[in-house]
This record gives sequence, structure tokens and C-alpha cells, in this order.
Amino acid sequence: MSDNYLRIIPINPDFVPTEEAQIDAYRQFGCLAYGKPLPEFHLQTISDKDGELVRAGHRDWCLLMRVFDQPHFIDNGCNLERVSCPLCGALLTFEFWHEELDKASNHHFTHFTDLRCTLACCGASVSLNDLDYEWPVGFARFELEALEGRRLVSEEISQLEQIIGCSLRQIMAHY
Ligand SMILES: [Zn+2]
Repeated sequence: MSDNYLRIIPINPDFVPTEEAQIDAYRQFGCLAYGKPLPEFHLQTISDKDGELVRAGHRDWCLLMRVFDQPHFIDNGCNLERVSCPLCGALLTFEFWHEELDKASNHHFTHFTDLRCTLACCGASVSLNDLDYEWPVGFARFELEALEGRRLVSEEISQLEQIIGCSLRQIMAHY
């Protein structure tokens, strides 16, 4: 039994949309991810703990919105095949990358305070969020997630960017 998740995050790790934009984005994201309009809903809190607020239109829905106090690592399950330097293209080892993630977070891969790292390949100082990930992962304070949601095309991402007010990154997670 495996699960797939469609995740959408702002490319700016600190960005959180306004409350109004969050609700509009949730509705539109659900509509796009499942290819049909959502039934009427009132956004409710599913859990609120340790700097993480999870909300959904209905408790039984697998369409979630998360807001974090500090950037969290938004993973892609077992879809991460390689990480490389965005400047010189050198392949980074997972060992190095894990060490940098550890250094940058004060909880285990959840609360990231400083995403900057220095790469041994060419000495570049870059954000962990800006490394070349194949497939994409990221760091964010805001996340939309749809269990078994379908991959969005660029026009659909643009619609959500208009609502949210920030460029977005799409993450396909597989477990
Ligand atoms: Zn490099």
C-alpha cells in the first residue's frame, strides 16, 4: 500500500498568505487537485501543536493546509533521488546534505532558523531551499496538501500564485 501526496509551497520559505488568501487558495487548490469543485466548507482546525497549525474544510478530508511558526522541511517521501549544487552542478552526498539539515534546524528537521550553507564543491554560500533537488522538496511556513491529488500544470500553478501572492513550488511525494 503506497500513498501519493501533491504539495504546494511558496518558494519564499518565510511567506504566509493572508487568512483570506489561505481560504481562497485552499478552495482552488482542492478544485484543481481533484478536478471538481469542493462542497461548501468552513475551514476548521484539525490540530494545533508545537508551532504547527493544520486545517481542513472537513475532518474527514485528506485536503490539508498547514501553517508553521518557522520554516519546516517539506519532503517528497522516497522521491528524492539527488541533490546538487545550483552553481557548479556538482552532486552533493546525502550525508553532507543531512548534516546541513541538522545544523540548520533546532528540532528534528522541523524548525529551521537559518537555511544558509556553504558547499565544498565551489565554496558557494546558498540557501538549502535553493539547492537543485530531483525531485523537488522545499522549506516553507505554508503548505497545501492533497492525498492522491493530481499534478498541476503551469497555468494552474499560476492561478494559485495569483491567489497566494507568491511564486510556488510543486512537490510530488510518494511513500
Ligand atoms: Zn558548487
